[in-house]
Amino acid sequence: MRKIWFCLLATLVIWMSCKTIKETVIPMSSDNAMLLKEMSPNDKFDTVICAPRTDTFATITISLVGDIMSHMSQVGNAKLEDGTYDYAPSFAVIKQYLNKADLTIGNLETTFAGPDQPYSGYPGFNTPDQLVVALKDAGFDLLVTANNHSTDTGDKGLLRTIKILEQFAISYVGTHKSQQDRDSVRVYNLNNIKLAVLNYTYGVNGVLPSKPYMLNLIDTALIRKDILSARGKGAEIVLVYYHYGKENEAQPTTTQKRQVEFAKQAGADIIIGAHSHVLSTMEYFKADTSARVDSGFVAWGLGNFISNQYWRYTDAGVVLNISIEKNKLTDSIYIATSSYLPTWVYRGQNKSMQQHIVLPAQWAEMDSLPPYLTKDLVVLMKEALDDTKQLIGTKGIKLTLQAP
Ligand SMILES: [Zn+2]
Repeated sequence: MRKIWFCLLATLVIWMSCKTIKETVIPMSSDNAMLLKEMSPNDKFDTVICAPRTDTFATITISLVGDIMSHMSQVGNAKLEDGTYDYAPSFAVIKQYLNKADLTIGNLETTFAGPDQPYSGYPGFNTPDQLVVALKDAGFDLLVTANNHSTDTGDKGLLRTIKILEQFAISYVGTHKSQQDRDSVRVYNLNNIKLAVLNYTYGVNGVLPSKPYMLNLIDTALIRKDILSARGKGAEIVLVYYHYGKENEAQPTTTQKRQVEFAKQAGADIIIGAHSHVLSTMEYFKADTSARVDSGFVAWGLGNFISNQYWRYTDAGVVLNISIEKNKLTDSIYIATSSYLPTWVYRGQNKSMQQHIVLPAQWAEMDSLPPYLTKDLVVLMKEALDDTKQLIGTKGIKLTLQAP
């Protein structure tokens, strides 16, 4: 009899602790049409939950990489016998580390001016549109486009690049097609955490675009305005992605230090850098009172993600993962974890594999590798792995090395 009473009581307690919730997923607030993983606007669903604790926290992960370049030898390797192009092999291995994040971001350091003018690498990049197809397939959701190569093919190329990104449903920020487009700061609603992404460059190699709105230059008044605008749109985390620094220089310059300090004071929570083509250090910082998090994060330079640059340090990069957690009861938000996957670029040195391929550098420590990775190449990969581990560790930062 006692047992029956106990069972009845237990059933009642379980029933009371469960509740039916009706949740409406809020569509993202960016004007820039963008497909969010695991969400579709206006989706409504009923869920029976019995574990309120899991509903207390919302977590998102952002994956970030540095420079995505397409030098002429990459164009050559992507060219198929029928004259078309395919960049998919470049990301075939690494895509599994990119497509799990809620938002995957990279720096697009080329333009898509189209086939009417010759494809080219440095100094005036014009890349086949198929690179975008491969980037989309690899998991990229957003490409920052303000960099010193944004105007390599002039206004026309800059605008066509945006058109191609839109065509393949990749979000963009940094270069813009109108004043309204520039002023609509990108705020992404990811699992009910609102993240703004802003992007600025120190300048361009050639001539600036004809209209100032076409390119975000590093301008303190503009950055301050954009951060305020992002907060106004409900951004809980503001990420500033800078294109700055000195090429081949891992140590931040005085100017970079000033630019990062400014972003901190203007209320940025996460600051990411690229341009130097070599990896730089990362660290947490005590955020400004206007920021939402106590502890912000800066990655001074993410290095190259893919390029034909092959000397030491330029062939190494990382996939940086930042997880952000929000306690929905207290409304507090913080950077929960950071991890990185060291990468290394195979450049089609062997006739058997004429491709540029981004690989996890930790492959260098694996016993069984594809035959195109000769012993000499594994030595270079191992060197890249060790360099990266040493560099990221120099600030005593506890980043978790992500297993390949
Ligand atoms: Zn650059």
